[in-house]
Amino acid sequence: MNAAKIEQHDDRPAMPVAVVTGGARGIGLAIARWFLDHAHRVALLDIDRVELFKAAAGLREAERVLPIQCDVSNPAQVQEAVERVESQFGRIDALVNNAGVAVFKTIGTTSFAEWRHVLSTNLDGAFLCSQACVPVMLKTGGGAIVNIASISGLRASTLRVAYGTSKAALIQLTKQQAVELGTVGIRSNAIAPGPVETEMAKLVHSVAIREDYYDTIPLARYGTVEEIASAAGFLCSKEAGYVNGQVLAVDGGFEASGVGLP
Ligand code: NAD
Repeated sequence: MNAAKIEQHDDRPAMPVAVVTGGARGIGLAIARWFLDHAHRVALLDIDRVELFKAAAGLREAERVLPIQCDVSNPAQVQEAVERVESQFGRIDALVNNAGVAVFKTIGTTSFAEWRHVLSTNLDGAFLCSQACVPVMLKTGGGAIVNIASISGLRASTLRVAYGTSKAALIQLTKQQAVELGTVGIRSNAIAPGPVETEMAKLVHSVAIREDYYDTIPLARYGTVEEIASAAGFLCSKEAGYVNGQVLAVDGGFEASGVGLP
């Protein structure tokens, strides 16, 4: 290959990089697929090593995927994971804080260990991943962060003392990030999904909760993982370049209807 050709090759813009937490399954895996379909390289972070490597190997564009086992609530693991992403891919353009856990219990029945588990995963995890990714984003002029919250962060209910609190705080973290990091070219937005058929929903949505959702959601169905993924992808894209600090409910009209959570 002659020198002119090498130069031409080196001048090609680098393929953008997205970091998706909780990417081994469910909504996170669908978000990873969206980014791969839209010409990104993707770092998938997940605590579950077996599911993570199975998911990464199953993706058609496996050569553009970097699976990293990481507990997002562990500061050292998060820092190490982000350093690996930077050394392997050289940049970070988008971060989707999707990793989450749900415990549906009342204030009287939630143990402190359950409270800490939910808050440390859903809230500390997003804080730590954002904090670690921001300096890398700044090296290439900015980026976009999307936090996957929930309609449970917009409405209070019984059964969601830890989960709802974590998601409401995540929405406020999104706004804090939008105001602080917007000044340096990093946009932050949140998505508040309604119910989506995933392993998490299987775990915490009882028959009564399901029936109630079907009765109260104007579209009368659960959302799909792809419907959440395309919203997350949009918020990270140039098309959403002036959207900052917003919460997009992707919930079949549940929030607009004003009814209470089941
Ligand atoms: P899921 O349980 O199917 O997937 C969650 C993923 O996060 C799993 O792969 C899990 O291993 C990973 N994870 C959990 N703890 C982690 C940690 N400490 N570090 C790294 N990874 C961790 O759940 P899902 O339904 O796909 O949910 C994804 C996100 O969407 C969550 O934040 C959830 O709260 C939110 N959400 C889900 C629904 C729903 O109905 N499914 C509704 C609203 C919001």
